[in-house]
Amino acid sequence: PLPIVAVVGRPNVGKSTLVNRIIGRREAVVEDVPGVTRDRVTYEANWRGRRFTLVDTGGWDPEATGMALKIAEQAQIAAELADVILFVVDASVGITDADEAVGAVLRRSGKPVVLTANKVDNQLQELEANELWALGLGEPQPVSALHGRSSGDLLDVVLNAL
Ligand code: GDP
Ligand code: MG
Repeated sequence: PLPIVAVVGRPNVGKSTLVNRIIGRREAVVEDVPGVTRDRVTYEANWRGRRFTLVDTGGWDPEATGMALKIAEQAQIAAELADVILFVVDASVGITDADEAVGAVLRRSGKPVVLTANKVDNQLQELEANELWALGLGEPQPVSALHGRSSGDLLDVVLNAL
């Protein structure tokens, strides 16, 4: 079986955009990861000749009551099935309560976490990414999933953590 990289974070931070950026919309959807439900979509991905399984999480209603709890639960499940966790935060918004809740789950998981500061679309916004050090999950990796900025550097960090 391939190593599993799970993408977690609250709604609208850009998880699915990042997944599409990584897979280039070319790879097939696979459904063979144990515990995968319709809330988790699994793809086969490849970077520098190394193959891995990429799991996109989400699918809940951001307006639902108890949303933060559901996200934290989803992060817990993802952490259990993953070899590396790609935690996506929206650097243009900064740290929210839901981000804190996910961060707490991931710090407890003991799994390697790559903290991704998304929506860093230009060099000026890299300063905003530094704010995410406060999550206590190491160095934030600034990327723009939408434009592809630094996404290769991010994948290098992910593969180093595998
Ligand atoms: P998800 O709910 O975490 O899967 O987030 P989505 O991937 O659906 O993205 C939510 C919104 O953020 C969409 O409108 C995206 O186009 C936008 N978005 C995602 N990545 C970026 C980025 O790097 N920069 C900017 N400016 N917007 C982004
Ligand atoms: Mg999504």
